[in-house]
Amino acid sequence: MQPKANIVHLPVYQPGKPIDEVKRELGLTEVIKLASNENPFGCSPKAKEAIIAAVEQSSIYPDGGAVDLTKAVAEQLGVQPNQIIFGAGSDEVILMIARAFLTSQDETITASPTFPQYKHNAEVEGATVIEVPVDSEGKHDLAAMLAKVNEKTKIVWLCNPNNPTGTMLTEEEVVGFLNAVPDRIMVVLDEAYAEYNVSGAYPDSIKLLDQYRNIVVLRTFSKIFGLASLRIGYGVGHPDVIRSINQVREPFNTTGFAQKAALAAVHDTSFIESCREANAKGIAQLNAAFDELGLSYFEAHGNFVMVDVQRPGTEVFQSLLRKGIIVRHDPSWGYPTRIRVTVGSVEQNDKFLDALKLALNEVAVS
Ligand SMILES: *Cc1c(COP(=O)(O)O)cnc(C)c1O
Repeated sequence: MQPKANIVHLPVYQPGKPIDEVKRELGLTEVIKLASNENPFGCSPKAKEAIIAAVEQSSIYPDGGAVDLTKAVAEQLGVQPNQIIFGAGSDEVILMIARAFLTSQDETITASPTFPQYKHNAEVEGATVIEVPVDSEGKHDLAAMLAKVNEKTKIVWLCNPNNPTGTMLTEEEVVGFLNAVPDRIMVVLDEAYAEYNVSGAYPDSIKLLDQYRNIVVLRTFSKIFGLASLRIGYGVGHPDVIRSINQVREPFNTTGFAQKAALAAVHDTSFIESCREANAKGIAQLNAAFDELGLSYFEAHGNFVMVDVQRPGTEVFQSLLRKGIIVRHDPSWGYPTRIRVTVGSVEQNDKFLDALKLALNEVAVS
């Protein structure tokens, strides 16, 4: 049997090690995972109640159209229900966009490094991926990305804030880009960390939808809402675009548990506010400590910081792991001396910083 030629080179996703496995392998009793940008405060208690109540409907197929949830999110955002599509995480919305819009004749533009799923799904469809390095501050180089646009370009992916660098594009920058890009090209604004933002310059992308019909905004319940395990996220765009994406959607792509939990979560705005505040304090805590250690870092606008540890990132990663702290280092980023750390609770951040100080002494400067 021959798989499709364009998938044979694709790597199988290597997930971070589960906490229990790390504990067993290293004989540790406490392990703190600051590797996947999950919410250290879990999810809203109201979402937990909704999950437990949803057990009663386990034998029944979920609402394929996620009608109640769509209505609630549409109301909160001030858009029409036919402008929203839900997926099993925004990962699945990325997959569906690629499936609905990209062919082997098309080109698609991303930053590098950025969230890997844009490239992955584009390659599954056989499209050509043009990767444009971020600038020295870890930000999307919009001018360089614009210079790569041609008649084959179908989609441009803007990850804002960018994972893994954490940097933000301002509304002014995004609007400047949208004005320069032909409107036959889709611009995906992946805003997985939007709810963490405390900067007045962050784009109001939902409002931009009135003027720019070629944008699709991606949001998720996996990050600030603390529901990563339930797999639910969504895209917002022009009704025609959302309809096309809906045409490739599997009938029951989101679970009843996820829909019910997300519905409860959107209404618990005080939980979100408290997480946003705690995160901003956590970033300040980490930045202050990095300043003291003389380590540089990219300006962080999500719930994670990418810091230059001035030593091989793989070795610092391993050293932290032995001390019970899981962070992220990926050689494909192109930053051999940087690690990405998720903002934890104050106590978790303290423990990470204590471990980091030891690791910096253990690993030789490169
Ligand atoms: C976490 C993340 C997502 C996807 O999360 P889902 O769990 O699939 O909703 C999408 N984009 C970025 C940039 C992310 O960091």
